[in-house]
Amino acid sequence: MADNQALLNEIYELVEGNFQEVVGWRRYMHQYPELSFKEEKTAQFIKEKLLGFGLEVKTNIGGNGLIAILKGDQPGKTIALRADFDALPIHDEKEVPYKSKNPGVMHACGHDGHTSALLGTAEVLSQYRDKLKGTVVFIFQPAEETPPGGAKFMVEEGVLDGVDYVFGIHLDSQAPLGKILVGEGYQMAAVDKFAIHIQGKGGHGARPQEAVDSIVIGSDIVSALQKIVSRGVDPLKSAVVTIGVFQSGSAFNVIADKAVLEGTVRTFDEDVRKKVENQIRSIVDGIASAFGASYTIDYLNGYPALFNHSEETQTVRSLLSEVFSEENVVEMQPSMGAEDFSYYLLEKPGTFFKVGAQNENPATHYPHHHPRFDFDERALLNSQKAFIKIVSHYLF
Ligand code: MN
Repeated sequence: MADNQALLNEIYELVEGNFQEVVGWRRYMHQYPELSFKEEKTAQFIKEKLLGFGLEVKTNIGGNGLIAILKGDQPGKTIALRADFDALPIHDEKEVPYKSKNPGVMHACGHDGHTSALLGTAEVLSQYRDKLKGTVVFIFQPAEETPPGGAKFMVEEGVLDGVDYVFGIHLDSQAPLGKILVGEGYQMAAVDKFAIHIQGKGGHGARPQEAVDSIVIGSDIVSALQKIVSRGVDPLKSAVVTIGVFQSGSAFNVIADKAVLEGTVRTFDEDVRKKVENQIRSIVDGIASAFGASYTIDYLNGYPALFNHSEETQTVRSLLSEVFSEENVVEMQPSMGAEDFSYYLLEKPGTFFKVGAQNENPATHYPHHHPRFDFDERALLNSQKAFIKIVSHYLF
C-alpha cells in the first residue's frame, strides 16, 4: 500500500508535468468541434495521439468511435474508462484565443475536456505497463448529444467484451473546482420523445356539429396527459410528461382539421417508463375515438436511465476521498437530464461521476450547453487523477 502510494505520487507528478500538453489538446479540439456522427477529424486526432503512446488502437467502432487497449505485463481485471468527443450546434460566443473556428458548432458541454483528460490518463498509464496487473480499455465515444447516440453502437460492437468494470466522468461547471460528485442509484433520467398527429374534420366555426374539432380534442389530450404523473405514477418515483409543441388552426372562425402535439417523457424506473408510454397511447386513443378523430403517434425511446452501481460507487467514493479529501467528495444530485453512459452501466458494474470545474471567474459559471460555456482547465488534472486512482485500485 505504501509502495502504491509512492507510485501514485510519481504518476501524479507526471500528470502535473503534462498539464500544458493536455490543455493544448483540449484547446485544439475546442477550436475544431464537430457535431454528433460527424466527428471524423476529432477521431483522427485522438487516434494519432493514442498511437503515439504506443497503444493498440481500434477505430471506426459504431461510427467514429475508437478504443485503445493497454495490456499490463501481468494478468488481472479489465477496467474500461470512457470519454465522449462530440460537440453541439451552438455558436461559440466566448472571446478567448481557443474559441471555436467552426461557425455554429461548439464544445459547449465539456466533451473536449473529457477526451483530453482521458488521453492524458492513457499517455501516463502507458508508461507503467510493468506495474499493471490487468488491462485498461480507453473508450473514446462519439455522438453523446444526439440519440440514438454513440454508446449503444459501441456496446453492440463489443467494446465491453471482457471488461469487468466501467467508469466515466462529466465535468460540472455548476460545481466548484476541487469537488467531485458521486452518487449511487438512478442519477440521470431516461428520455423519450413523442409526436401526436390528430386528424379531425375542418368546418365553419358556427357549425361545430358538422366538424371534428382537432383543437378541442388536442386540448383534452394535453389536459388528460397531466394526470398520468399525478394519478398513474407511484408518488415515491419520478416522472415528467411535458408537451412542448401544440400547433393547430389558421383562422378565428374556422374549426381546425388537424393538430400536432410534441412532448418528452423523463423517468428513472423502467416500469414507470413503460407505464407512462402505455397511458399516453391509451389516452390519445380514447379521446380521439370518443370524438371521432383519427391519429398517429410517433414514440421514440431515447437513452435509458443512468444507474450507478452501489458497490463500485462506494469504492469510487472512498478512493477519491483519499485523493481529494472526504469533504470534497460530495453527494451527486439526480437530474432529469440524460447521458448515454447509461448503456455501459446496463452491461457492466461501474459508476459515472462529476468533476467540479467552476472557479471565481464568472466565465466558468455558465451552464452546460450555454454559448459561453467554459471551465477551469485544472479540472482536467482532477479528472486524470480520479481515473488513475481508480485504475490503481483495481490493477496495481
Ligand atoms: Mn455532456
